[in-house]
Amino acid sequence: MDLLHSGGDGGGFEHCALCGALAAGPCARCGRPTCGDCCVLTEGGVGVWAVCTRCNRRGGKSLRAGWGAALTWIIVPILALALLVFAIEWAFGGK
Ligand SMILES: [Zn+2]
Ligand SMILES: [Zn+2]
Repeated sequence: MDLLHSGGDGGGFEHCALCGALAAGPCARCGRPTCGDCCVLTEGGVGVWAVCTRCNRRGGKSLRAGWGAALTWIIVPILALALLVFAIEWAFGGK
């Protein structure tokens, strides 16, 4: 069964990396194709992401860390912008 390795295109359909069924879409984390039964929908703030169950198990505990990183990425630009606005107001309006 080395068809996947040596064979060319298998009709254009990707198969689930976990169970081998017809894949519905790629996992948002590892990029592997997953079917509807092997993926979990996760709300990631911007939208809904399909994450395979393997990544979901792995990221179960690190999901909070991910949220912390996401919050950092949101807060840091806001703080930078606030500092910029403060600096501009202080430079031009502070007489
Ligand atoms: Zn599957
Ligand atoms: Zn995955």
